[in-house]
Amino acid sequence: MKTKKPLELLKLSVPRETPITSFLTASGTFQDGDLLLNQKGLRLKSDNKESPQSDNKVLDAQFSLEDLETIKVIGKGSGGIVQLVRHKWLGTPFALKAIQMNIQEDIRKQIVQELKINQASQCTNVVICYNSFYKNGVIYLVLEYMDRGSLADVIRQIKTILEPYLAVVCKQVLKGLVHLNHERHVIHRDIKPSNLLVNHKGEVKITDFGVSAMLANSMGQRDTFVGTYNYMAPERISGSTYDYKSDIWSLGMVILECAIGRFPYIQSEEQSCPSFYELLSSIVENPPPSAPADQFSPEFCSFISACIQKDPRDRSSALDLLAHPFIKKFEDKDIDLAILVGTLDPPVNFGR
Ligand code: ATP
Ligand code: MG
Repeated sequence: MKTKKPLELLKLSVPRETPITSFLTASGTFQDGDLLLNQKGLRLKSDNKESPQSDNKVLDAQFSLEDLETIKVIGKGSGGIVQLVRHKWLGTPFALKAIQMNIQEDIRKQIVQELKINQASQCTNVVICYNSFYKNGVIYLVLEYMDRGSLADVIRQIKTILEPYLAVVCKQVLKGLVHLNHERHVIHRDIKPSNLLVNHKGEVKITDFGVSAMLANSMGQRDTFVGTYNYMAPERISGSTYDYKSDIWSLGMVILECAIGRFPYIQSEEQSCPSFYELLSSIVENPPPSAPADQFSPEFCSFISACIQKDPRDRSSALDLLAHPFIKKFEDKDIDLAILVGTLDPPVNFGR
């Protein structure tokens, strides 16, 4: 008669130094160290220190919407809502932007294709779009999470931003614009305070690149604009042809607003925002707004005037503006935007 082996003798030895960190997500992805495994196969996570995206652990992971869990709603725009989500197994936070879009299959495919190309964008001052999905009439963009919200949130709290900090903001936005305008040869079309995002490290990044164009395309008319007209260059608001210089006008308007604490086409904070037709006539017929010389440095006034020129040919390019005396003036002064944003309350949350 066979004697049964005591159970202790059947113990398997599991190497302790490489613990299995986390297990399985809704899409069935499993990670152990740098290995990722799901139904699509086995892949090695990249850890390229040179890449601006390298501090994000899921860069190469294939994940689905089900892998993301909602933490709270962080914003609402004209196209839909933005939620703070977390990757269930890596814990990485993302901003998930949902855009309601009931559109034909072929247009949808084209949009998703464009988004995939945008995903390849590599610039520290442009918000990374990690992934995009289409589900039940909604396009989802998985974006880099910017934990201090937008410049709109910043000026809502502190009303005005001092010149040294503005120079730091400008330099970063200009670097993003050089990437979009000169390297990718695209026009952003919707530079405004809510599309310039900030994080706790004091980094400023441009977002919604391509989104307004995408919405316009999906509506069948290339130039149907969804959003605010406030920062639109004269040639654009009047329906003429426009190029990347229209982004420079918008940047000038945003920076001037941050400096004076109100939208430049209104006289006081109490005045309500102009209607489309009031705005159209002010932008097209009046002289362009400028920074008051008695309140701001000559370098700042000159920078604003280099951006806000009615004739796009008179505006400087992003590349030229990076070398402007206003930017140069504060370059070696060690101005830390992280200190400024660190003093602010967290951005407005809709989901609390
Ligand atoms: P509109 O839809 O009219 O263009 P908007 O830019 O405010 O306005 P959304 O782009 O939908 O609309 O963004 C809404 C808000 O969500 C933003 O103002 C910002 O505060 C927040 N937000 C958007 N993207 C991110 C992100 N990647 N990280 C953190 N917050 C974000
Ligand atoms: Mg936006």
